[in-house]
Order: sequence, then C-alpha cells, then structure tokens
Amino acid sequence: MFAHSDYLILMPSLAMLALATMLVIAWIIQRSQSFLLWQSGAYSLTALPLGMQSLLSLEVLNRYVLVIGCFYLLGAWCLANSWAERWKVSVQQNAAVIIAIFTLATLHYFSSIEQNVWARVSSFSIGSGLILLLPILRIRAKKISFDWLDRSLLWLSIIFTAYTFTRPILIWLLGYSDLGSLPKSPYWLLTLMSVLSFSILFTVVMIAIAVKEIICKLREERDHDALTKILNRRAFQEHAQKRLADRRLYPMAVLSCDMDHFKRINDTWGHERGDQVLQLTSATLQKNVREHDLVARFGGEEFVLLLIDTTLPDAELIAQRIQRDLGSSNTVLPSGPKLTMSFGISSVVNPLQLEQALKEADQLLYQAKNAGRDRVHVSGMTYPDIWIEGTHPQNAVAV
Ligand code: GH3
Ligand code: MG
Ligand code: MG
Repeated sequence: MFAHSDYLILMPSLAMLALATMLVIAWIIQRSQSFLLWQSGAYSLTALPLGMQSLLSLEVLNRYVLVIGCFYLLGAWCLANSWAERWKVSVQQNAAVIIAIFTLATLHYFSSIEQNVWARVSSFSIGSGLILLLPILRIRAKKISFDWLDRSLLWLSIIFTAYTFTRPILIWLLGYSDLGSLPKSPYWLLTLMSVLSFSILFTVVMIAIAVKEIICKLREERDHDALTKILNRRAFQEHAQKRLADRRLYPMAVLSCDMDHFKRINDTWGHERGDQVLQLTSATLQKNVREHDLVARFGGEEFVLLLIDTTLPDAELIAQRIQRDLGSSNTVLPSGPKLTMSFGISSVVNPLQLEQALKEADQLLYQAKNAGRDRVHVSGMTYPDIWIEGTHPQNAVAV
C-alpha cells in the first residue's frame, strides 16, 4: 500500500496533465496552432513515467526501463516538434530515430547487462538533450528575427536543453548513492520541481504566443478586405495618417479608381468571375506600386491608392501603366472585353488635406467616367466636359 506522502509526490505529474489539458483547450478554441498539441503531448508522455518512477520501487522500475525510456524520449520528441512547428523549421526525424535507438540500447545495457543507474540517467539525459537540440540548431542556422515572446520561447528552450544535458552532473553533485530510494532522494525532488517549473513557464509563453496570434489574425481580418486581401477603407485611413505625419514622404498623390462597366461583367459572366476580376485588379494595382504606397478597396469595384513621394505627373504615368497592364492581362475572361478602369488623381501636400484630396480625386474620377471611361483625370488639368456615351474615348465627340 502507498502512504499519503507517496500520493503527494504524484502532484507534479497531475499538474503536468492539467497543463496538457489547458493546452488542448487552447488549441480547440482556434484549431490552427498545432504546436500547442505537440506541447500537450510532451507533458502527457512525461507525466506518466514521472508518476511511475515516483511510486514504484527500483526493482520494479528496472523491469520497465525500456518502456519508461520510450515514454521520456517520445516526450522529448514531442517537445522538439512543438518548437519546430512554432519556428517553422524541421526536426530531422531520421536523426531523432537514430538518437532514440542508440539511447534505448544504452539504457538496456545499463539495466540488463551491467546495473548502473547513473550511467542510465546519463545516457538518457544525453539522448533526450540531443533530440531537443535538433530544432534549436535549425533555428540558429535560419537566423529568423523574432519578437520578444518568441525570443523568450527560444531562450527557455535553450535553457531547458542545457538543463537536460547537465542532469547527470546534478545527480553526481547531490549524491547518486541515494538513487536506491529514488522518490525520496534530493535528486528526484529537484527533478520533479524543475520539470514542473519548466512546464509552467513553457505553458505561459506558449499560451501568450497563441493569444498574440489570435489578436494578430483578428486585426488582419479587421483591416483587410476578405476577397482581395488588400486594405479596407478603415485601415487605409489609419495607415494613411501614419504616412501623412512624416514630412519626408511628401509630395503624395491620391488615386481614386473604379472599374468600367463592371456590372456588365457580372451580368454576362457571373458573380464568381466578377470576383476573380476584382482579385486580378487588386493584384495589378499592388504590382504597380511600391512597398510603402497604400492600395485599398473602398467598396464594390472602387479602389483608392496613396502614393508616397510621388508628383502628379508621375502618378498619372503609374495610372496609365496600371491601365495597360489590366487591359493586356485579362486571364480571367480571355475571350471577354478588355478590362478598363477610370482614374481621378489629386495631390496631398499636408496632413490635414487627405479628406479634401479624396473628395477631389472622386470628382475627377466622376469626370473621367463622364468623359467616356478608360481615362485618367489629374487635378489642375482641364478636360472636355461630357462625351457621347458608347463611343470609344479616343474617337468620342464632345457635346
Ligand atoms: P461604371 O463604369 O459607371 O463604374 O459602371 P459599373 O457597372 O462599373 O458600376 P455600377 O456601380 O453600376 O456597378 C457596380 C457593380 O459591381 C454592381 C455590383 O453588383 C458589383 N459588385 C460590387 N461588389 C462586388 C463584389 O464583391 N463582387 C462582384 N462580383 N461584384 C460586385
Ligand atoms: Mg465601375
Ligand atoms: Mg463603382
């Protein structure tokens, strides 16, 4: 029979199972961050042999050395996969299998052929340490820039791996003669407390990362148009204000643009093809501007661009280039009409002027539509007023 104190020593294992459950729940909430599941697997696979070692006598444990070793190594492998998944690197699975086989063979040797508990702990520590090292070496080679949360995870992983390697030294320092009664040895108590402390720290960091990811995803969805993945009107205003605050980025140009006769495309080819045309259009707009310029879908088939450090003549050239690209790359409707777009362009010379510039660009776009479409109307230029609808813009007749 077990005494109360024996059950007390099971607390760390139970706490780890509770942490594993928390991680599964965190995964269920959004079902996209599988590193949480790997981490949960690592805790569960470690909690089980940890509990067994706390309760069973050394003679009984001797018989199950390989089973216990397998559990621990699988736990280390899950942990390595959890980190690898988060850092988007691969754990070299072949190397992990070779390390595991070699470790199990050594464990077998030091339990069946020559009884040496310290050698067993040492070979196990080195084996699981090497498995944990696999993703860390990959990340070092990849040189990814992390934010502070992922950096914390990396450092925690490095410290835990170093601790795993140095456990045999700890046993040696704390006296391995005590290992005969493992659960009561200071080494074992230290092992339980350190594994539990690391598990709590890893859980806190991993859940913080998961929460951060959810917030980023929600922000992404809030700021971007679902169909074309470019900025929406709200996010355009927010990003534009940041750019407008920087005096070095002037002059800027605002382009208001709208697909011509888009309703006909929907009516003739269906809404789905219409959607594909909108995706093609937004991709064409993005392709023709620089990284710091803004491209947004303001609604329907209407887009707005904010071009940084761009004069009106330059903005006009960019609009014409977009028109050419769009007209020549109709991959969505190969046998359909040439895709055309009308533009109104206005300049922004100070931070308070954006709304006024947008209004002017809109009026110029309206003028371009009335003038026959497939046109670029720029602020400060004069254009003939109304053209007969239906004629080609170039040959149209003013009325
Ligand atoms: P104009 O040359 O004067 O701009 O004519 P237009 O046909 O392009 O403009 P109008 O405003 O008459 O019609 C725009 C159409 O765009 C009507 C609407 O059904 C369609 N539309 C708006 N949003 C979407 C969308 O997300 N997908 C698709 N496929 N169609 C859309
Ligand atoms: Mg239109
Ligand atoms: Mg429109």
